[in-house]
Amino acid sequence: MADCVFCKILNGEIPSEKVYEDDDFIVIKDIRPVAPVHLLAIYKKHVPTVSELSLEDSQKMWKLFEVIKTVTKINGLESYRIVQNNGKDAGQEVHHIHFHIIGGRKLGPLG
Ligand code: 5GP
Ligand code: ZN
Repeated sequence: MADCVFCKILNGEIPSEKVYEDDDFIVIKDIRPVAPVHLLAIYKKHVPTVSELSLEDSQKMWKLFEVIKTVTKINGLESYRIVQNNGKDAGQEVHHIHFHIIGGRKLGPLG
C-alpha cells in the first residue's frame, strides 16, 4: 500500500529499529514509546484490521504468540501487555494490522 507507514517500513523506505523478523512478522521499536519497552509486531501482509483477515491469515496468527514469547524473553519482560487497535474510535493510527507489546513499568488499568 503506497501510503502505509508500516508497508514503507517493511520495504525499507522508512528506517526502523528491528528486533525480530520471520516470514510473517517483523517486530520493531515504537517511535513514540509509552513504556520502557514498547514494541510493534507487524504482520507482513497489508491487512487493515482483524475484520479483514482471511481465514488463511487468521490461521497464521498463532505464530504471533511464539513471536511474542521470543521478543519478551529477549527483553526480559515477565509482565507485559499486548494491545491491538481496530478502527479510528479504538485509537488505530496506522491501518495495517499490528500488535503493541508494552512493558518495563507498572501499567495502569485499560481505558
Ligand atoms: P496504532 O495507534 O495504530 O495502534 O499504533 C500505531 C503506532 O505506530 C503508534 O504507537 C506510533 O507511535 C507508531 N508509529 C507510527 N509511525 C511510526 C514509524 O514511522 N516508526 C515506528 N517505529 N513507529 C511508528
Ligand atoms: Zn501496510
